[in-house]
Amino acid sequence: MSGNLYARFERVFAANADRVALRTPDGTASLTFGDLARGASRYANALSALGVEPGDRVTVQVEKSIANVLLYLAVLKVGAVYQPLNTAYTAAEVSYFVEDAQPKLIVCDPARQAEMRALGDSAKVFAVVNLDAHGGGSLAAMAATMDDRHDTVAREADDLAGLLYTSGTTGRSKGAMITHANLASNAETLVELWRMTSADTLLHALPIFHVHGLYVALNTSFLAAASMIWFGRFDAQAMIAAMPQATVLMGVPTFYTRLLSEPAFTMETARNMRLFISGSAPLLAETHTSFAERTGHAILERYGMTETGMITSNPHDGARLPGTVGFALPGVAVRIRGEQPGVLEVKGPNVFRGYWRMPEKTREDFTADHWFITGDVCTIDAQGRVTIVGRAKDLIISGGFNVYPKEIEEVLDAIPEVAESAVIGVPHPDFGEGVVAVVTARGRLAPEAEIIAALSASLARFKVPKRIFEVAELPRNAMGKVQKAELRKRYAATFT
Ligand code: ATP
Ligand code: MG
Repeated sequence: MSGNLYARFERVFAANADRVALRTPDGTASLTFGDLARGASRYANALSALGVEPGDRVTVQVEKSIANVLLYLAVLKVGAVYQPLNTAYTAAEVSYFVEDAQPKLIVCDPARQAEMRALGDSAKVFAVVNLDAHGGGSLAAMAATMDDRHDTVAREADDLAGLLYTSGTTGRSKGAMITHANLASNAETLVELWRMTSADTLLHALPIFHVHGLYVALNTSFLAAASMIWFGRFDAQAMIAAMPQATVLMGVPTFYTRLLSEPAFTMETARNMRLFISGSAPLLAETHTSFAERTGHAILERYGMTETGMITSNPHDGARLPGTVGFALPGVAVRIRGEQPGVLEVKGPNVFRGYWRMPEKTREDFTADHWFITGDVCTIDAQGRVTIVGRAKDLIISGGFNVYPKEIEEVLDAIPEVAESAVIGVPHPDFGEGVVAVVTARGRLAPEAEIIAALSASLARFKVPKRIFEVAELPRNAMGKVQKAELRKRYAATFT
C-alpha cells in the first residue's frame, strides 16, 4: 500500500462521492467529495504539465480559497512537497522562504505575479503561476483544461508531504519536514479522539497556511468524510448565522472572545454544535468559563506545534480543565526531565523528520535518545495532564531568579480593568532583566503605582513588574499569538 496520504483521502472521497464536502455559507459554491477528487486530479495534471515531480517543493502564497484546497490535495497526489506561506509575508520576506526551499513551482496571488516571477528567476524556480480567492488565475485556468483522472503517485510513508515553516514567534521561521506518516497518524488519532464522523459539519474559518487550519482541520475532515462550511476568514456574525447548520468549530482563542462579544451569540446559536476546539495560543481560563456560561459547552483545548502536529488534547469525555492542554494523544509520549516546571519533550509517529537544511538546529532540538525538545515549559500532573507555563525563550531571569511570565499574567488578568496582558523581560542594569507588563484595559486602569502595589500583595518582589504599560492592542500574528519578541524590542530601553 502506498504511504501517500492522498491514497487514504481518495478511498474516502470515492465512498462518499455524492455527499457535500465543502460549501460556502452563502451557497455560492458547493463541492461533493467526488468534485474534490476530480478537482484534485485536474490540478495534479496541471502540476505535472508544469514539470512538478515527486519530491519537488511547491511554494504557495495565495488567499484562502476552495481552489487552494484542490491545489493542496494535488500536491500530495503528485508526490510533491507542499510549502504554504502566510499571506501577510511581503515579497522580501517570501524571498527567504523561496531561497530556502528551492521550489520547482511558485503559486502566488495574481497581484504578485510580476514580483514573484522576478524572485523566481533569481532562485531558478521553474514556473510561477497564480490563483485568486475566487477560483480564478492562471493555474485555475490551466487546471480547467485538464483531464479529471490522475493516478496518485506512490510514496513511502517517510517521504515528505509538507515543508511547513514555524510561525517565527521566537526567531526566524524554521522549515519543518513533515512526512505522510506524520500527517496520517496525527489525523487518524484526532478523528478517533474527537469522534469525528460523516455526520459532522465543521466550521472552517482558519487560514490554511498553518498546521491548525491545514492539517488539523482539513485532514481530519477528509478522513472522517465530514462536511465543511468554508469561510474566507473569521467573521463573528457570519459564523453565528451558519452555526445552527454545524456541529464542530476549530478555532484560535480570539474566535471565542470575538463570538462572546456578540450579544447575538447564544445557547440557541450553538444548539446543534457538539464540539468547540481551541488551540495555537493559550485560551484564557476566563474565556473558557464565560463560554461555558453562555453556551453550555466546555471548550476543548489542545496543544501542538508545526514540528509535531498535535501533542496533547483535553478529553472528549471527561473534564476539560481551563488553563490545561490535557493528556498526550494516544501513541504520543511526553516527558519532562528533571524538575517541574520544565521543558516538555515529545516522541511519537507525529514528530517531524527534522528542520529543512538546518542539521545543526535539528541536532540541538532532539535529545540523544531521539525525543524532540518542544521549548515549551510545562508541568505534568500525576494523572498525566499537561499545563503550559510558557516558552523557555520567554523565561525571565531577574536578579538570578526565574520568572515565568504566565504566572504574573494570570494575576494581572484577574484585575477587572485588565483585559489582556503580556509580561516580558528587558535589559536591566542591576538585575540583568527587569520585568515589564504590557496590558490592554477594559474600563479605566488604576495608576501604575497602585497596580504595582496591589501586585506586591500576591507576588514575590522579584516577580512584580517594575513598569506597567497600557496599549490599545497587543501585537499578534494571524494565529492570535502575542509577539513577545516584538514587545521586547519596543520596550528594550525601559531601564537603560
Ligand atoms: P517559532 O517556533 O518560529 O518561534 P511558533 O512556535 O509560535 O514559532 P508554531 O509551530 O505555529 O510556531 O506554534 C507552536 C507553539 O504554539 C507551541 O510551541 C506553543 O508554544 C504554542 N501553542 C500551541 N497550542 C497552544 C495552546 N493550546 N496553549 C498555549 N500555547 C500553545
Ligand atoms: Mg516553535
